[in-house]
Amino acid sequence: MNTKKGTFIPQDAEEMGYHEYLDYWVCKCKNFEKLDGFNASDRYGNLISPIGAEYCRCERCGSVIEVKSHTIIGINPNPDRGRF
Ligand SMILES: [Zn+2]
Repeated sequence: MNTKKGTFIPQDAEEMGYHEYLDYWVCKCKNFEKLDGFNASDRYGNLISPIGAEYCRCERCGSVIEVKSHTIIGINPNPDRGRF
């Protein structure tokens, strides 16, 4: 497997879980905002400035999520973090 930085592995779109009581979106690994959280990323999971970012990456499992649809589109286990 290619483990160079920034490797993105696409997957079939999968909607995140939603915790109604806590009002949180939950990753398939059960991470959510108040645990390990998410960081703004590009569509390949490489970290970028949060301003206007359309994707985010789960800090626990590396899933890349389209923010507006809460859809997991792939995974990047070893992102390019730039300066973030
Ligand atoms: Zn996750």
